Amino acid sequence: MVLCSVCGVREAVYFRPYSGERLCGECFCESIVERVRRTISRYEMFEYDSRIAVGVSGGKDSLSLLQILAEIEEDFPKAELIAVTVDEGIRGYRDEAVRLAEEACRELGVEHRLLSFKELFGYTLDEIAERTKGGPLTPCSFCGVLRRRALNQAAREVGADRLATAHNLDDMAQTVLLNILRGDHRRLALLDPAGMSISERFVRRVKPYCEVPERESTLYAYLKDIRFQSRPCPYAETAMRNDIRNFLNRIEVKRPGTKFTILRSIQRILPLLKRETGLLGLCPLCGEPTTGEICRTCQMLQELERMR
Ligand code: SF4
Ligand code: ZN
Repeated sequence: MVLCSVCGVREAVYFRPYSGERLCGECFCESIVERVRRTISRYEMFEYDSRIAVGVSGGKDSLSLLQILAEIEEDFPKAELIAVTVDEGIRGYRDEAVRLAEEACRELGVEHRLLSFKELFGYTLDEIAERTKGGPLTPCSFCGVLRRRALNQAAREVGADRLATAHNLDDMAQTVLLNILRGDHRRLALLDPAGMSISERFVRRVKPYCEVPERESTLYAYLKDIRFQSRPCPYAETAMRNDIRNFLNRIEVKRPGTKFTILRSIQRILPLLKRETGLLGLCPLCGEPTTGEICRTCQMLQELERMR
């Protein structure tokens, strides 16, 4: 039996390749909570009395993050958590995730706000997919952009001063490469885990889960018995992000710690990137940051409006 390298008592159930540690279930879970705690303080993500909206999709990352933040919040009696879920309207998929999010919030005693694409934009994602079939944009393109808008709106409506999303280390590393490969380097600054105060209408977005690798997030959810949506979305793309995911996973096996290196590299050049972002304008229609004139969300909404 191999013993845990932290407590030296219990049997190790997980080998962490990038640190060489072997951890028992308990020490592993504690290490994840500790890492989130450190990430929050390193980036000064919250104030002691922040009202924090947490984007909860019903997947493993967001449900784990919600549970961890609820645990950390106990040490900050003046801080508040409100879970916000966006129902995109994907039949047979999102309905289950929404139910899981509701259950988790009830168990944790966290206020929950549910917003839907239908009520915000007039269409479910299924309807958007149907209408835009054969067009240049995939359901995922609409979904990602509109969800960001919906989360921001939900956070504003609940009076939050922060919006915490559960992007994990893999999401971050993938997005860095994706933006570089697409030549969209100006968006890199928006990846700052500490978020940016860009305009009054844009709730500062923080990513307290950004140093937790995907597989550790999965293990955490299993060990903590968190019920999460595990079925893939019917629209899930096999596009560039998947290629990047596979590429990064292969490199990570050969060179453990590569995903962290990507995150650290971006952190080092963030001041430069932010200077560039000064060039980002604010959308005249919604006040959110944009690399062009009118932001992508507003363009999409106008496009959908034309189809009405
Ligand atoms: Fe939305 Fe695409 Fe994710 Fe499905 S896979 S939830 S369509 S972004
Ligand atoms: Zn806009």
